[in-house]
Amino acid sequence: MNSTNRTMQIVVKVSKFCNLRCRYCYEYPELGNRAAMSRAQVSAMYRTLRDHLDVVDARDGLATGLHFVWHGGEPLMQPAEFYWQTWADQREIFGERIPVRNSVQTNLVLLDDERRRLLLHGFDSVGVSLDVIGGLRVNLAGRDSQRRVTGNLDRLVADGGRVGCISVLTAQNIQAVDELFRFFEARRLHFRVLPLFDTGEPGQTTPFEIDREQELFALARLFELWLASDLMQRPPAPLDGYVEIAARYLSAAPGPEYQDRRAWLPVVLVDTDGSCYTYGEPYGDADWSIGNIFTDSVADMLSGPVFERCAVQAERRVALNCLPCPFFDACGGTLLAETESCERDEDGAGTMLCSGRPVIAYIAERLHETEL
Ligand code: SF4
Repeated sequence: MNSTNRTMQIVVKVSKFCNLRCRYCYEYPELGNRAAMSRAQVSAMYRTLRDHLDVVDARDGLATGLHFVWHGGEPLMQPAEFYWQTWADQREIFGERIPVRNSVQTNLVLLDDERRRLLLHGFDSVGVSLDVIGGLRVNLAGRDSQRRVTGNLDRLVADGGRVGCISVLTAQNIQAVDELFRFFEARRLHFRVLPLFDTGEPGQTTPFEIDREQELFALARLFELWLASDLMQRPPAPLDGYVEIAARYLSAAPGPEYQDRRAWLPVVLVDTDGSCYTYGEPYGDADWSIGNIFTDSVADMLSGPVFERCAVQAERRVALNCLPCPFFDACGGTLLAETESCERDEDGAGTMLCSGRPVIAYIAERLHETEL
């Protein structure tokens, strides 16, 4: 495999169809929709990306690696054959020149022989969604999937699966972050916590919402649990990134510079119909789609008016919030530039509240105190 010096991540919403009905899911109205990308459409996406990388890699003298993140709905509701075929198509279209990785984000409710083979020998890494506590990840009959998913997770890990997990923090589990941490610590599994955000569906998430103070308290507690743990190598995300920023801040080491999307776009979200979104702008809102990867070239998308609007919005967020932030040199502003609007809080006067900043301040203080 060629070595790469930059990557592009493509989040592929292969279908919204799902075997669960998690009460907070932002795709909730679409979860019964069986529409899925076809093999031909996905191949068209590959060719579009290859043609783009052939030009920009030659121009920049760089080698780009592609990372496809297969997302849904539940991506494992697609037949296993779909993935084996599309990986054969990847080999044919990208050849030796463009290295490719494939990850999947699954609810892991189903783990039959075919899916097990896909997860162990097909995908390069597996993300499993489970909240450990809360009872919000339910099937069509309203039954909690937790026990079943835990059994499948343990089997997959025992078989050597490369697994990480994502837990959504809600009113149902925010008081139990110790239990959450211990669950993953006992299995030595890296995990990410994702505070529940507004799905835009009236009333859908209201009973499960947490406020900013609860979120910050939970993140600080998770940091303390990690600090005291002999078993957990890496802090749960996003704290792993925050610890790196705090360490750079304390040692006055320079961090990543703010990345102008016009120079390089690191992440693209592709909806089931091929419409593309940048990370940070409202995914699913057609007014913010930069184009369609099944029919448009990447050059056309990146030179269009919507892409320019997305880039300006990201710059505005960083100018308004990050320039006065003491951590900007160590951070580069990515936390705000690439956080979806529905995940961001505002102060009521249009200024965004970076949820990373107070946690980074807390971590910097604690690292300083403990002289780590
Ligand atoms: S406001 Fe947030 S994203 Fe911006 S520099 Fe500070 S910590 Fe980073």
